[in-house]
Amino acid sequence: MAAFDLIVIGAGIVGTACAELAVREGLRVAVVESGAVGGGATAAAMGHLVAMDDDPAELALSRYSLGLWERFASLPEAEFSRCGTLWVAREASEFAGVPAKIARLAAAGVVARRIDADELYRLEPALVAGLCGGMLVADEAVVYPPRVALHLLGLARAGGASCVLGRRAVALSADGVRLDDGSTLIGPVLVATGCAVPELLPQLPMRSRKGHLVITERYPGRVHHQLLELGYADSAHGDADSSVAFNVQPRPTGQILIGSSREFGVDDRDVSPAMLRRMLERAFAFLPMLRELQALRVWTGFRPTSFDGRPYIGAVADRAHTWVAAGHEGLGVTTALGTAQLLIDQVLGRAPAIDPMPFLPSRALQ
Ligand SMILES: Cc1cc2nc3c(=O)[nH]c(=O)nc-3n(C[C@H](O)[C@H](O)[C@H](O)COP(=O)(O)OP(=O)(O)OC[C@H]3O[C@@H](n4cnc5c(N)ncnc54)[C@H](O)[C@@H]3O)c2cc1C
Repeated sequence: MAAFDLIVIGAGIVGTACAELAVREGLRVAVVESGAVGGGATAAAMGHLVAMDDDPAELALSRYSLGLWERFASLPEAEFSRCGTLWVAREASEFAGVPAKIARLAAAGVVARRIDADELYRLEPALVAGLCGGMLVADEAVVYPPRVALHLLGLARAGGASCVLGRRAVALSADGVRLDDGSTLIGPVLVATGCAVPELLPQLPMRSRKGHLVITERYPGRVHHQLLELGYADSAHGDADSSVAFNVQPRPTGQILIGSSREFGVDDRDVSPAMLRRMLERAFAFLPMLRELQALRVWTGFRPTSFDGRPYIGAVADRAHTWVAAGHEGLGVTTALGTAQLLIDQVLGRAPAIDPMPFLPSRALQ
């Protein structure tokens, strides 16, 4: 029986970020992954590194993480592209809300600026006529999440982490975890299994929120920024059973990634023609030229969504030596590095740089 200082279950972007940092801190680490490394929600994601201002705690975590992502800005594996985020206003009321949004972001240290309609069309000539203006967050970027997860795991391995790939953790025990081949690993456990958290920790509610994405052939220079409608946060963080929002990303390859849809209560991975049509019509309404482009692939993924939309990061209240980092919904790529720092600081008994209280898993038990 092997003994470790931390057994990380799940090698998505969150688990690999935690494992890599734990190794850097000198811990003896094991990583258990039943599927492909970076193959869960991480493989499905757009990889937009973005600060959302609708929840102060998540904004603080995002801001913290965005700073940590700078470490990967010139790493080829990350495919880091600082395209900036351009939020687009279709309605005058959305545009009128921009100064308040800028102020909320500024209070958290995120620099954004108001863009009038003339500048909007200079920045993105392909946008549909008649938009009111928008808001630019110039420093924000996109990455390719599965490759980052692989890279982080590679760093952890190079630092001495043991990897148990192709094995599923089936039960937590008093002193470690049991795997599906009957073997046992001994040590404190970090559950970073995304949507699957309740299989090991049924006390922590988690819903899967399905999303569709489309990627096109290469059309360099058609779109320059990650484009989102200003109403996106209502769709992303609202609780509707299904919703779509305009969310388009220029990939460094010249491809265009088109999102995004959100659905609760759908468990199958199938592409839904109705949802896809709804999502694309939304995108066409902002960027009509998309209609002419050739799509290459459509896929779906599931966002791990906690009961209140915030991730669980910290000790599991009713279990000794058990930690959790999961439930990041649509912001898990953005917040993975901050999550790792917040979690490992707690594991090591250090005061984290940001307030851990809003993320403590114990809130689910109240
Ligand atoms: C369509 C879509 C678009 C998105 N776009 C963005 C975006 O632009 N920006 C952003 O920040 N976020 C985005 N997200 C959200 C982001 O992808 C997730 O929040 C993040 O990937 C969650 O990472 P994770 O490591 O917690 O989970 P996962 O990536 O799902 O990893 C969990 C891992 O645990 C493994 N596992 C599960 N159970 C076990 C077990 N018992 N034993 C061993 N291994 C196990 C799984 O195989 C999996 O590899 C998007 C998500 C979707 C679906």
